Amino acid sequence: MFIGFALAMIVSLRRLTKLTVVTEERAGRVHVTVHGSLTFLGVPRLAHVLRTIPAGSSVDLDLHVDFMDHAAFEAIHAWRVDHERTGGSVDIDEVHENWYARSSARSAPAAKTIPKGRWWAPWDMRRESGAVPAVNPLGLLTAGAREYHASTADRMRSVMSRLSHRHNPTALFVTCADSRVVPNLITASGPGDLFTLRNVGNLVPPHGSSDGSAGAAVEYAVNVLRVPSIVVCGHSHCGAMRALAEGAHQGPVEEESTHIRRWLANGEGSLRRAGADHGELAGLPASEALRRLAQANVVEQLGNLMGYPVVRERVESGSSRCPGCTTTWRPPRCTCWTPRPGSSPRSGRPGRARARAAPSPGGGSAVGRVIVGRVVPSVLLNT
Ligand SMILES: [Zn+2]
Repeated sequence: MFIGFALAMIVSLRRLTKLTVVTEERAGRVHVTVHGSLTFLGVPRLAHVLRTIPAGSSVDLDLHVDFMDHAAFEAIHAWRVDHERTGGSVDIDEVHENWYARSSARSAPAAKTIPKGRWWAPWDMRRESGAVPAVNPLGLLTAGAREYHASTADRMRSVMSRLSHRHNPTALFVTCADSRVVPNLITASGPGDLFTLRNVGNLVPPHGSSDGSAGAAVEYAVNVLRVPSIVVCGHSHCGAMRALAEGAHQGPVEEESTHIRRWLANGEGSLRRAGADHGELAGLPASEALRRLAQANVVEQLGNLMGYPVVRERVESGSSRCPGCTTTWRPPRCTCWTPRPGSSPRSGRPGRARARAAPSPGGGSAVGRVIVGRVVPSVLLNT
């Protein structure tokens, strides 16, 4: 019994002392990233790092912590107030829970820069942090528009004024309608950068299809906007891919699912490419089957794009490129890659910058050059 108690104490102590603090300087700002549990045991280490930050500097403090006790909060808050008093700025981003924000709300006086929900966070998380007022869900759009006018619209005045005359996007970005896919967020782009086509499953019906929506976007992007890149971006946990894998497009005709059924039939080629016809998805764990199908789907849709004469001509002349892209939630990643012509996705596994797909049974490989991280327009243009 004593041994069990001692082991429990050791495990608890290990957990409470697990803390990493990393600092780096990027673009003139000091970035401090803290991982682990912030308790009084870690305060000396954290305080030591914070003391090395030059006075007057702009600091981003990212807290990836599962716990923060009062001593740790006091240490951060005191440093913050002092740093801001000497002309510096501190932007605290709590990735998991708002430990600092909650303690800060109870503590007075507050720091000069009031912690608030990040601009990219979903509405409900930002309301919890007090960054936006609590409103009825039906009023969220209106409240969001008010916040946009109050905090962002004026700052965008010159950019939007310039863009009002014309836009010159770098890419046609084809992606899923899934609300978790935020093209401008995962590509660190802004207004005017991406001409975006969204639909269920990021599908591009073949040239000549009766559905003209995708074709119209492709033709406009290529012929009028002259985009140098055409990107198809798939994503993890895609409901459309799951429905496709489950054969929803072949299910019984029901009034309420007529359109989704018909639309998903555009993904049959992706199923074949993933090897579903030969049972290659059947024996896999569901998550792996879904990952393979999502990747096969991107490759398939890129192939469909090449069936559009305007795209093929631009690609063959070297004026446009067609990379694939995959975004995942756990961990949050955006990976861009160039499929090899005639490739099978079965061997491709984007995820590492040096990834080189092994030859597939079909003699090809899905992934050519892989670029991990955000989509950088110049990279898409020049690689
Ligand atoms: Zn999706």
